[in-house]
Amino acid sequence: MDFLVAAEADNGPAKQAHRAALPPRRGFIERGLNQIGGWLRRRQGLIQRVQWSIVIVYLVLVATPAFLPLPGRMAHIWDNLTLFAQFAFWGIWWPFVLLSMVLVGRAWCGLFCPEGALSEATSRFGKGYAVPRWITWKGWPFVAFVCTTVYGQMVSVYQYPKPALLILGGSTLGAIAVGYLYGRNKRVWCRYLCPVNGVFGLLAKLAPVHFSVDQDAWTASRLSGHAHAAPINCAPLVPIRTMRGGADCHMCGRCEGFRGAIELAPRAPNHEIVHVAGSAPKPWETLLIVFGLMGVAAGAFHWSASPWYVSIKQALAGWLIEQGLVWPLQVQPPWWILTDYPDLNDQLTLLDGAVLLFYIGATAAIIGGLVSLCLWLATRSLGPWSSAAFHHFAQSLIPIAACGVFLGLSAMTVTFLRAEGASLGFVGLLRGGLLAGAALWSIGLSWRIAGLRTRHAPRRFLATAWIALAASIGVGSWVLLFWVW
Ligand code: SF4
Repeated sequence: MDFLVAAEADNGPAKQAHRAALPPRRGFIERGLNQIGGWLRRRQGLIQRVQWSIVIVYLVLVATPAFLPLPGRMAHIWDNLTLFAQFAFWGIWWPFVLLSMVLVGRAWCGLFCPEGALSEATSRFGKGYAVPRWITWKGWPFVAFVCTTVYGQMVSVYQYPKPALLILGGSTLGAIAVGYLYGRNKRVWCRYLCPVNGVFGLLAKLAPVHFSVDQDAWTASRLSGHAHAAPINCAPLVPIRTMRGGADCHMCGRCEGFRGAIELAPRAPNHEIVHVAGSAPKPWETLLIVFGLMGVAAGAFHWSASPWYVSIKQALAGWLIEQGLVWPLQVQPPWWILTDYPDLNDQLTLLDGAVLLFYIGATAAIIGGLVSLCLWLATRSLGPWSSAAFHHFAQSLIPIAACGVFLGLSAMTVTFLRAEGASLGFVGLLRGGLLAGAALWSIGLSWRIAGLRTRHAPRRFLATAWIALAASIGVGSWVLLFWVW
């Protein structure tokens, strides 16, 4: 009898209402991420100590090699600081930070980045001026990415320590100066001016985790008397309440649990691109994907291996000599304008530099132009012109654009390891698998996006086919580099 009473009480109306109010039972992954989010919020002191450790290592590796002699032929990664720094920056840091964006969002930015840490720390004691309008210009991510990529090739940033100090150190000084002048406890540099901010933001859209905001819980918190909850310092200036994606969030964890509405949570990797990215067209992001990542980056990785570059240069040199104009073949600008290492027989003349710029520009124009045409055709396949659909389709190319840049950068990793005698016979297969997987991912995204915009199956299929062609143009540019030349 007692048992029956107990069972009845257990299923009484009050208990049932209480159970209905509880959140649905959570799986292992949700609970795990929730705990990680809480841990991040509680351990901000530890995170700062880690950041300062990275700042010290970073400054040593960026600055010291520039004052050492260039490594000899017999030097190795493990016995030469310059080679070790090159491998650390270009073989490990750069490609795998990019990869981490796709896996865990911008956690690198919020938890480890030395420039972000320096900029935020400086802003604590700086002038605290309001952020001027020129800094918030939306074109900076594209312009800064293109400029640093092209300039990096002009001075051979991957090969020599002085250009690395100039570019990375210059970026770090910029981050400190902007932090000193603008904002208070903020990362104005990271939010608007960092040369890789745009690229990181695009890649983070694919991450399977994010800090999700429950609008209902937020509103309920305000109505229930928690309106004066302590404010959160979101250093990259994310409008947290309306945040729907991970592109701008640095995953620092500071807002976790705020108003009982924010938590680290899993999501489908397609979610942000399919359901969020199309809500507001972002032409600068389209430019960055189509002309920046698929165009400029491909040209920057191609030129030194391209037989076309050599042919153009030889033809131009012959023509100049016929005209009696030899100075473009002789003038050698200093190392901070064009590569200049005569002892290593590695120099770029004015002609080399001009052809390099032309080659990267032409590659970007041809690839970007063809991909834009595919995007236009995909958009028109759905019906009347829609710039929203055009820019939304461009977002579907993020996987193949990102994969290309990762492969280009990881080619440095392969070069370093092969120079050390590592056997990497699997690399070709891995590259092929990654390119095929990324192209299929882009095609799948375009299929989902087209499905949101039309119920007409043939139109949907045709639009997807044009995006498949755009993705294959992206694949083709890397096939040329890795398998044809
Ligand atoms: S929204 Fe801001 S405070 Fe919250 S995790 Fe992202 S960067 Fe940190």
